[in-house]
Amino acid sequence: MKIRSVQAIPLSIPFEVRSRLPAWRGKDFGALEILLVRIETEDGCVGWGEAFSYACQVPVKAAIEQMIAPLLIGQDARRITGLMHDVQKVLHIYGRYGVVNFALSGVDIALWDMAGRRAGLSLVELLGGANASTIDAYASLFRFDDPDRVAEAARAAVSAGYKSMKVHTRGSVDVGAVRGVVGSEIPLMVDTNCHWTPAEASRLAHALKAYDIRWLEEPIYPPESFDALRDLRQESGIPIAIGENACTVHEFQKILAAGAATYVQPSVAKVGGITEFRKVAALTEAYGASLAPHSTYFGPGFLATLHLIAAQPAAPRMSIEHFVVGPEASLYGGALDVQDGAFALPPGPGLGLQPDGDVLRDYRVKPA
Ligand SMILES: [Mg+2]
Repeated sequence: MKIRSVQAIPLSIPFEVRSRLPAWRGKDFGALEILLVRIETEDGCVGWGEAFSYACQVPVKAAIEQMIAPLLIGQDARRITGLMHDVQKVLHIYGRYGVVNFALSGVDIALWDMAGRRAGLSLVELLGGANASTIDAYASLFRFDDPDRVAEAARAAVSAGYKSMKVHTRGSVDVGAVRGVVGSEIPLMVDTNCHWTPAEASRLAHALKAYDIRWLEEPIYPPESFDALRDLRQESGIPIAIGENACTVHEFQKILAAGAATYVQPSVAKVGGITEFRKVAALTEAYGASLAPHSTYFGPGFLATLHLIAAQPAAPRMSIEHFVVGPEASLYGGALDVQDGAFALPPGPGLGLQPDGDVLRDYRVKPA
């Protein structure tokens, strides 16, 4: 069961949604950047993972292949939590947040996928069993900063069967436009991606109250402003959601101890993988907060999130984030399509599905 190889496979899959916003992180944001991790053992068992890699594919790939792979080759693939602890400990000097942790996350997901395949059990069965066989999805809408276009996207999401949705915006106008289109029954979330100062957040949170939002996500920059987030949560009365950029359970401990979050949002391809996500889920339960995973993924990261949600006792009341951008190809063909606003848990071993070889070939990023 010794690990023979750890590979990172970069893909770029164009999507159809476009905004007129300036380039994102210095690039035109018009394609899904997916970094798959493929781990194989000496006896031929394979597991697939995914590391967050938007606008950072080259450094995350290097971290997987040059920093983590040498620590894993020859190790027993079945000792996942111990291996992840050891690798985190060795690599802590390179930062506990960002590129190295994204890389660790992809490796961890691949090891869990492999463990399920070896056992003949799905991931959710390994995690204690499914509490739901389908998981509702909320439509996570692209940021347009254009009330007409976001209203059009919201209308399309309702037609497609989504029962709740999230608006990415920096103001309240887009939210009003969406509420006007979807009516009062559809739960709405608002995400600024850490944009406002505490004073701006206070002013805009009060403006958003008119639209009855379920949560306000990452309202304040910098993201570590836990005391300001707690104050905003208490003063505005609006539930606050944060955590997609937090890595390891230790950062979540600070968030929860500060009372900064109503909804806690670990991102499986950033936080440290399935191993670390489970710790965050347990801590969230202990603090009495709600879990609302971040999952703007389309590969193993999305599958892992589906299984992790299904493993929660609260699964029937939870939903998975689905980024509605219309990719031109799917790693899983039609096996992972949203149906009436929900995703069915794939029943196969491990994550339940394997990447399509044609998509891996056709959308693989060529070395520079
Ligand atoms: Mg977000």
